[in-house]
Amino acid sequence: METVKTLIIGSGPAGFTAAIYTSRANLSPVLYEGIEPGGQLTTTTEIENFPGYPEGVDGNQMMADIRRQAERFGADIRKGNITHVDLSSRPFRVTVDGEKEIVAESLIVATGASAKYLGLPSEMKYRGQGVSACATCDGFFYRKKDVAVVGGGDTACEEATYLASLCRQVYLIVRKPFLRASKAMQERVFNTPNIKVMFEHNTVEVLGDESGVTGALLRGADGTETRIDIAGFFLAIGHHPNTELFAGQLELDAEGYIKVEPGTSKTSVEGVFAAGDVKDPHYRQAITAAGSGCMAALDCERFLLR
Ligand code: NDP
Repeated sequence: METVKTLIIGSGPAGFTAAIYTSRANLSPVLYEGIEPGGQLTTTTEIENFPGYPEGVDGNQMMADIRRQAERFGADIRKGNITHVDLSSRPFRVTVDGEKEIVAESLIVATGASAKYLGLPSEMKYRGQGVSACATCDGFFYRKKDVAVVGGGDTACEEATYLASLCRQVYLIVRKPFLRASKAMQERVFNTPNIKVMFEHNTVEVLGDESGVTGALLRGADGTETRIDIAGFFLAIGHHPNTELFAGQLELDAEGYIKVEPGTSKTSVEGVFAAGDVKDPHYRQAITAAGSGCMAALDCERFLLR
């Protein structure tokens, strides 16, 4: 059975940064990319707030760059999804794609977070047929059509603005009477003529036929129902941490985020470190994820030296 010194799970900014640092520290890290190589940034458009890119950078490009940087120092980056972990004793036992077993002396968990859905049966029915949680992945299919985005945060505003550049009309469905997004994002939304913000509206049902989504039924705060005709229904209502693998093994908070010792990346199991969105319900930025990947690598190095 293969034994590795440091196993990193996840390939977002946290995982790749941990790979850069651990490979430079001669820990010979092996990184498994998981089901979304490059992580959430590969589903975004332009990143304007990552230091070092004064003109902004495409999310895919940035992840390709960070990956290349990790490879330059010898990180072993592999395709594959970790399907089981046993953290009951050290070294830890890990299963890849339900088959291959690996033994790891230390583990850095950087599995990130995934998009939330409303939980409507009709939403599930049309998933992939007009219902999407990634405007940048799927927006292209709705050129010159009408679409809706649900949510009032930065993601919703960013996705609505992006879709407005492709689509005819974008409805932004917001459950509160205000947007939670940053002022800059709000201004972009309000200054885009083909975005219609529908405050205090909730989705009752996603409507469709055999061709996919055809509309949505909304309910306003006063109880009145409105039907909008749309071809695409985009969710941007936040994320949940990808910690199912670790339930019952690592200490998690009430929302499922991995708990770490304050100011460190140390989890409740010695030798297991967490980095990025999987342990961060507050900041969730590429730069904070990268920073915490660095912390996990340094904590891991110290642990192994000891
Ligand atoms: P947020 O948690 O910030 O916002 C989620 C939004 O979805 C809120 O408006 C929330 O409403 C709404 N919502 C949640 N559940 C439901 C529901 N069941 N029905 C209807 N609406 C719902 O998530 P984001 O993904 O927007 O942002 C996450 C973090 O990432 C934030 O810190 C954000 O600033 C950051 N970010 C930064 C970007 C940038 O700087 N370029 C780009 C994108 C994200 P309510 O307000 O009522 O709770």
